[in-house]
Amino acid sequence: MTFEPVIGLEIHIQLKTKTKMFCACSAHETGVSPNTNVCPICLGNPGVLPVVNEAAVRYGVLLGLALNCEIADYSKFDRKNYFYPDLPKAYQISQFDLPIAKNGFLELDVPGGAREHIHIGITRAHLEEDAAKSFHMAGGTSTLVDFNRGGTPLIEVVTEPDFGSSREAKVFLQELRLIARYLGISDADMEKGHLRCDANISMREFDKDGNLVGLRFNPKTEIKNMNSFRHVEKALEYEIDRQTRLWEAGTPPLTSTTRGWNEAKGVTEEQRSKEESADYRYFPEPDIPPLALKQIADEMRSKLPELPAARRIRFQEEYGFKTMDARALCDDPALADFVEKVFSELDSWMRALPEMDGLDENGIDLERKKLARLVAGWLLSKLAGLLAENSIDVRVMKITPENFAEFITLIATRKLNATAGLKVLSVMIQDGNDPTRIMEDGGLGQVDDAGKLAEIVSRVVEEYPAEVARYRAGEEQLLKYLIGMVMKASEGTADPALAKNLLIVKLRG
Ligand code: ADP
Ligand code: ZN
Ligand code: MG
Repeated sequence: MTFEPVIGLEIHIQLKTKTKMFCACSAHETGVSPNTNVCPICLGNPGVLPVVNEAAVRYGVLLGLALNCEIADYSKFDRKNYFYPDLPKAYQISQFDLPIAKNGFLELDVPGGAREHIHIGITRAHLEEDAAKSFHMAGGTSTLVDFNRGGTPLIEVVTEPDFGSSREAKVFLQELRLIARYLGISDADMEKGHLRCDANISMREFDKDGNLVGLRFNPKTEIKNMNSFRHVEKALEYEIDRQTRLWEAGTPPLTSTTRGWNEAKGVTEEQRSKEESADYRYFPEPDIPPLALKQIADEMRSKLPELPAARRIRFQEEYGFKTMDARALCDDPALADFVEKVFSELDSWMRALPEMDGLDENGIDLERKKLARLVAGWLLSKLAGLLAENSIDVRVMKITPENFAEFITLIATRKLNATAGLKVLSVMIQDGNDPTRIMEDGGLGQVDDAGKLAEIVSRVVEEYPAEVARYRAGEEQLLKYLIGMVMKASEGTADPALAKNLLIVKLRG
């Protein structure tokens, strides 16, 4: 007997609109005192009239399209009734039977996973308003409520139970976050609560021949309201473990339940038993006319930007990046934009080069592949490291694509070596100057003048007689040490290959 997890996700994404879902209050929460972005509509006073925020509808439709959904010709809003201090109307305006989008899917790569490629069905995506934020005071004496968040627009995405591991669920969430960022509809920052996830999980049983035993879908546990990728992954792992044990003991869960993730204890804990959707007494929102979405859908279809998956493939095919590098670069749209500009600069430089290395077996220009490797290496390890050390974001860094492209050409033509390159780059992020100037001002250009380098080599050979003797006696690994000393004596500006050749010649003599 083996047990396999069945996982489906429900994700709330906060839409980055100026105003709230049904009123003109600002939807921005940061730097605002509690309970200032409020009005009679989002406070739920009687007699007020909600008006749909068209930007939110457009964003929702855009996400539906990006998730390959059918966009409803007609959609409507419904009241979802429940009583809680964070919901002043005692109902949330949401969508029940006619969501704006349904029947979509997302294809994903899960590098190194049990399934390397997954197809996840998207059940639906609907618009709703967020509830206010509760602050439970220490000691449990009181709860304060901030209504700034109340009424801000959300889109809820519901997936089919198509995930087979916590890892797959996490990869999906990360891709969804990236798609939201590419579409510009949300910052989708989990830590800031822009993206919150409920994870549903059950187990199913297989016999030793791999045939399903019993039901495909068993009563599930819903783990509510997680706001970090790690929590989602850990909570699912914990639940898989807990439910597997119950199954093995012959006491599988008989009803669906709701649990919460307790990060401090590293466990899920049972909450109230799950309400049936009938408990919410959904009924159509009488104050909001139905939405006709055909025209918006057509318009949004023409505005759909290139999505991360397509961009990763293009980065491999057009620029010659390796799969992992393309993935890393496209994970930040601003970094990917920067790369595109760097390549358009490099293009004209490459066209001026006398000879090309031809094409590889996939028809990708070999010269480009080499450049892509340089660009990826310098951007992802060196520059990313420098930016992180100095707390600078690519969006505001001083290095222009032109200067970075020039920097890459200096490296590619061996005018700068790696050591000096790093020095030049760290000056570039400080003052934004062009690399040739920094190189010349700092005397950092590679010493490929054989005469000058030969002098340094002679000096090193004189200064390290013991090491030289040992090398000559057969300890060949000392060559590396001596090259290091030449690099040091030249303050990192020597061309290492040339230094090596000169040393070998000198040491033989
Ligand atoms: P509910 O009626 O509890 O809201 P739904 O059928 O609407 O349940 O599904 C809610 C979420 O739970 C969806 O993401 C769905 O994929 C997932 N889900 C449904 N059934 C199961 C199951 N047996 N095991 C795991 N996840 C499930
Ligand atoms: Zn308001
Ligand atoms: Mg449901």
